[in-house]
Amino acid sequence: DKPVIIIGSGHAGVQAAARLAELRWDGGIVLVDQEETAPYERPPLSKEMLKSADPTALSLLRKDTFYRDNNIERISGRPVRTIDRAARQIELAGGVRHSYHRLIIATGSTPRRLDVPGADLPGVHTLSSHADALALQKALTAGSRVTIVGAGYIGLEVAAAAAARGCDVTIVEFRDRVLSRVTSEIVSRHFESLHRSNGARFVFGAGVRAFEGDGRVQRVVTSDGTSLDTDIVVVGVGVVPNQQLAADAGIACDDGILVNPHCQTSDPEVYAIGDVARCLRDGEPRGQRLESVQNAVAQAITATNHVVSQSCEVKTEVPWFWTVQHGTRLQTAGLRHESDDIVVRGSALAGKFSVLYLREGRLAAIDTVDALKDFVPAKKLIAAGAALDPARAADPSIKLAQSQT
Ligand code: FAD
Repeated sequence: DKPVIIIGSGHAGVQAAARLAELRWDGGIVLVDQEETAPYERPPLSKEMLKSADPTALSLLRKDTFYRDNNIERISGRPVRTIDRAARQIELAGGVRHSYHRLIIATGSTPRRLDVPGADLPGVHTLSSHADALALQKALTAGSRVTIVGAGYIGLEVAAAAAARGCDVTIVEFRDRVLSRVTSEIVSRHFESLHRSNGARFVFGAGVRAFEGDGRVQRVVTSDGTSLDTDIVVVGVGVVPNQQLAADAGIACDDGILVNPHCQTSDPEVYAIGDVARCLRDGEPRGQRLESVQNAVAQAITATNHVVSQSCEVKTEVPWFWTVQHGTRLQTAGLRHESDDIVVRGSALAGKFSVLYLREGRLAAIDTVDALKDFVPAKKLIAAGAALDPARAADPSIKLAQSQT
């Protein structure tokens, strides 16, 4: 037997197990997770699930029969405590050890905590797991005052769900606009006005000094001393990679487990994929750690291809992300921070537009706001490194592909 053990049965881990089964890996496939729940999708946790009051609305990644039919052994409700690389074993909580031939670490990430007084008060939520979503789903009752800290994807999706559930929503954001880490000003302003028109209030340029309350959170004190009365707080200020297990085993980490383009760590018998992995490529000194379903799935395929046949080429995919807020869909492909010019295609006022990010005249990234028809062609153009004529690209009556120079 040559078992491949996968730690973490999220998007990356389950895809890795599925791909090994597809490649007819017959040495044994073991999928371990600390959560009891059958592996599930995370994106709906902050979207469909929160909007409904139905506690059973959970989307499973695969049917239960899938694991049995593909001889994938699932160990659930057990965290992996240590990796013993010399013995090629992992140890589960409780002391049971399992030997591996190859190990794939897919432990994902954990919401970043705010290091301020009151951060542990009941009523202060974060959102990462099904259990978190259930707790929040229950708390979002009509009329309750909800303060969201952080206007990133998760914070804004929760804000939209809370507003839809009849809550009174205030969003506190350290920067001067929403989604500042992931998009440009024009898209930020569009989403800000969408939330405002659905009743949300914003406090920009403020951090959190403390959460206060008697037995549970009742006030958020911002960095300028303002006190906001609240019933519920949701903190969405980013995530940190779950790398400790690897670091303790002497595997190189630096804001993520460092991997090569095949997803191998500093120990070539151990791979890391998904939110926890930071991929180093030539010409990128710090590499890249991406938090998206697309990246988790792509890296799972890369790693397992390499486990099965050591010499395989690496397909680099254009990274992409999506978010849905108040029924408006923002879909992004490519990496905006690599750009030096912006072209707006369509009208933000009309509510359907795309923002193209060019680098030296070539398309580096795109944001589509309810303009999905631009998305697939743009992804192809980004992959091809196509140069665009900005004037033609700005005209939505001309197909994007026809604006190539
Ligand atoms: P996860 O899916 O987080 O899985 C990691 C698993 O490892 C978990 O089940 C965890 O319990 C387990 N684990 C950790 N440590 C151990 C241990 N020591 N032992 C055993 N098990 C362990 N991405 C998008 O592209 N679009 C979206 O719209 C979107 N929405 C999101 C909404 C929410 C609420 C969240 C939380 C994330 C969202 N994401 C979205 C991000 C996306 O879900 C992640 O990028 C993706 O889940 C990463 O997959 P992963 O397998 O690396 O990690």
